[in-house]
Amino acid sequence: MYDKDYTEFLKIQNATMGFRRNVFDSLTRLYQSQFEFEYAAKWEDLSLRAMTDWDDLGGDGISYSTTKIGYTAILSYLTSKIPSSKIHLNHRISNINFLGEKTKLMLANGTLINDDFDYIIVTSALGHLKKFAQKMFTPHLPKRTMNAIEKIGMGTSSKIFLVYSDSTWMDTFLSPLPVPDCFVRKAIDGIESEFNIFQKVSWAPNIYMGWIAGDAPEKVDKLSDQELSKILTQLFRDIYHNYSIPEPSAILRSYEQAQAGIRHSDLSIPIIQNEKIRIQLAGEATHDRIFQTAVGAFLSGRRESDRILNDLRKSG
Ligand SMILES: Cc1cc2nc3c(=O)[nH]c(=O)nc-3n(C[C@H](O)[C@H](O)[C@H](O)COP(=O)(O)OP(=O)(O)OC[C@H]3O[C@@H](n4cnc5c(N)ncnc54)[C@H](O)[C@@H]3O)c2cc1C
Repeated sequence: MYDKDYTEFLKIQNATMGFRRNVFDSLTRLYQSQFEFEYAAKWEDLSLRAMTDWDDLGGDGISYSTTKIGYTAILSYLTSKIPSSKIHLNHRISNINFLGEKTKLMLANGTLINDDFDYIIVTSALGHLKKFAQKMFTPHLPKRTMNAIEKIGMGTSSKIFLVYSDSTWMDTFLSPLPVPDCFVRKAIDGIESEFNIFQKVSWAPNIYMGWIAGDAPEKVDKLSDQELSKILTQLFRDIYHNYSIPEPSAILRSYEQAQAGIRHSDLSIPIIQNEKIRIQLAGEATHDRIFQTAVGAFLSGRRESDRILNDLRKSG
């Protein structure tokens, strides 16, 4: 659809080839990558349904950043209310058995947990459910839920953090958008056009954060830190015509994320047996409006905890 409109647009702009075409191709790349990052999927795989469903209820172009503390304050508050003996980190659940009156959990090493549980909120990421949901639940999850797990799509977006000893050359935001023939070089390396947004980390201004999505994470994963450092340093130097821009002193990278086909809210419907809530799903992929965000993940946890509280109140 976009390709059709874009071709039409180029014709109207008299820009089907040559320099004007190069400029528009670079600009359109920024537009595409914004969507690819926000929805963590390749441009051609994006679901229009997911784009219409997504709504953070905020104004256009407004975004929020965590402070240096990050999410630690929320986690500290929550964990302060729970005895540490009840928190088990690094224990993978391989089976959730809700055949009986109460639910039993089995760890990946085969250990059956002694306690029985009234309510279970599963917050595994969508990718984990796609791979393991078939084996993870006894009995199987209803067809409706399995269908949503299978159909909701997943893509990738990543952030690259470049640490600098000297950041005086940096703009708060940078969209490099190199245009062939309008740059110090005639040709642009394919990988260079994947780096469309860099942003200074507000609480650590010596760190430049690059956002990548679409085809980029796969391409960038294949590069060593040294290769990546060379490519980006060359790009920044050519963009700013400043050949004293240093290479980053360290590169920190992260990987992976999700997007949609049928509705995310389908995953928020609890599994009820004999009129009792038995399995609840939470996590970003289950939020109806702001899936794929930490806020959506947080709100989905609150949604399911409230569901349990309401249920307990009802049953007195
Ligand atoms: C590169 C990148 C950048 C991002 N940037 C932003 C951003 O700027 N703003 C934003 O809001 N969001 C951002 N996100 C998205 C955000 O990180 C996620 O939406 C959020 O972390 C999802 O939380 P979650 O609890 O649903 O899932 P997860 O964070 O995946 O947590 C699920 C947890 O369950 C555990 N688990 C899974 N299966 C099992 C099992 N069988 N047994 C026991 N434990 C299990 C996992 O180990 C994990 O700890 C970004 C994501 C990426 C990858």
